[in-house]
Amino acid sequence: ALDIGHDLGRAILNARTFEREHHLVRELRALDDYKGRMISTVAHELKNPLASVRGHLDLLELADELSEESRGWLAALDRGAQRMGRVIDDLLLLARVGEAGHPLVARPVDLRQVVADAVDVVALTASRKGVLLHVDLPAHPVTALGDADEIDRVCVNLLSNAVKYTREGGSVTVDLALAGDQAVLTCSDQGIGISAGDQERIGTEFFRSTNPEAVAESGTGLGLAIVRRVIDRHHGHLEIESELGRGSTFRVRLPAA
Ligand code: ADP
Repeated sequence: ALDIGHDLGRAILNARTFEREHHLVRELRALDDYKGRMISTVAHELKNPLASVRGHLDLLELADELSEESRGWLAALDRGAQRMGRVIDDLLLLARVGEAGHPLVARPVDLRQVVADAVDVVALTASRKGVLLHVDLPAHPVTALGDADEIDRVCVNLLSNAVKYTREGGSVTVDLALAGDQAVLTCSDQGIGISAGDQERIGTEFFRSTNPEAVAESGTGLGLAIVRRVIDRHHGHLEIESELGRGSTFRVRLPAA
């Protein structure tokens, strides 16, 4: 009788713990949902005034009577507005690919094209910085099932980070291959690397490394959060290998179509 009473007591305790945990999970989901909606609303509200600022900057640039100095100030304003626009776009995308965001519409995507487009985006920055880009694309199509724009952002974010966090004269290698039922995209750099502690937190929204060399570069900590979420919703995997001072390899595995 004692045993039965004891077992019953434990069962009740377990049920209560389960209920409490269930409640906590629901609350956390609701909070995450709220955060996603807040980010998206704020970003939307910032988009219109910024478009107006950029429109007026364009008009000012057309004026004839501007001095060289004023043109310099306008160019600086324009760069600031462009950067603001990129942060807003990142916030909107983050909300879109988040849990409460839009469902994924998956279509076959030839990753060779996506990688080639992403290389075009970073090529100018890389050459200005003296970073060599090696691109190895197979002769046959490597097709993943997913959203082309989202996968494109994964490639652009990984590649631009690789270029950004590599010192002048270093190199970045992009490689694409089919491995069984997976499309594998590998982006390696000989850059500043990421400590083991930071590797665990990387991809968390707004996380930036405290490594002084990384801090010296401007950024928001949104790029890899987007990468992670997009890969998750495509049922893929992200692997990171990195050593401080030696470089990093980011490997993306996506289900092949
Ligand atoms: P950020 O806008 O700061 O670049 P990300 O989300 O793209 O944001 O990256 C988060 C952090 O991860 C960066 O601040 C940087 O410290 C680190 N990181 C990302 N990619 C690399 C890389 N290829 N090499 C070294 N550090 C990197």
